[in-house]
Amino acid sequence: MRVPVTDLLSSAVREFAAEPPFRDYVDPDRLLVVGVRGRRGPHGKRAACHFTRFRETGERISADGRWEFPRLTFGGHDIRYVISFVLPRFLFLEPREQAEDIVHELLHVDPSFGGWSSPLRHGARYDSRVRALARAALDRGLAVPPLAAPGDTVLYRRLRPFPHPLRRRDRAAQWTYDDDDLETAALHLDPKDREPPPPRYLYRCPSCETLYPRQRPLRMASCGDCASGYDARFKLKLVRGSRGSDESKGERREQGRGR
Ligand SMILES: [Zn+2]
Ligand SMILES: [Zn+2]
Repeated sequence: MRVPVTDLLSSAVREFAAEPPFRDYVDPDRLLVVGVRGRRGPHGKRAACHFTRFRETGERISADGRWEFPRLTFGGHDIRYVISFVLPRFLFLEPREQAEDIVHELLHVDPSFGGWSSPLRHGARYDSRVRALARAALDRGLAVPPLAAPGDTVLYRRLRPFPHPLRRRDRAAQWTYDDDDLETAALHLDPKDREPPPPRYLYRCPSCETLYPRQRPLRMASCGDCASGYDARFKLKLVRGSRGSDESKGERREQGRGR
């Protein structure tokens, strides 16, 4: 029987959590690792850290009393944090990137280990801290083991529905999760899922004719070779793609949320 990649990732997270500064406050028994399916291609979210308590209240119930996190009990432990890895995207990353993503998510764990987010904000300082901690761990010999190769079919564990906060009024929602809710799924790693999807929009400079493939529509954009700032004379012309509004909202939301 093949070992699910989420089990390998769980072991890797455990090892990184045993490094400074995480070893001072992360309890790996109360941190759950799962997989979630993502869109193909290299762009977008690769992993996420999910919380189980609201920072404002320190409880599962929100300050306004309208939202509540479900109760998560796995392996007999009251789970405080869930780290999800976006598959297959995460599996195609370089080992160094995988290590940095694990460190990135662990930095979202509050030093109280209370179940809410750490006060650190995304940004250049966050990223440089991630790189420094990952490098230090790798220098000490830690490594993310090879997880899978393109062409493999892997198993992973997932939670469906995902345990996001629920409206307290919604008594029919799933309010408790335990080991029985971890389902095992299979995923074929198609090598072409590693590549970005073909561009949906193609623009051309009216002057030098340079082509600009884009996933999203451009509005006020001029040719970077012909103009330094925006210049209407070199405004890029749409040569392929629609001006319609069928842009995937899901993708925009995914990118806006960061990882
Ligand atoms: Zn041009
Ligand atoms: Zn983040």
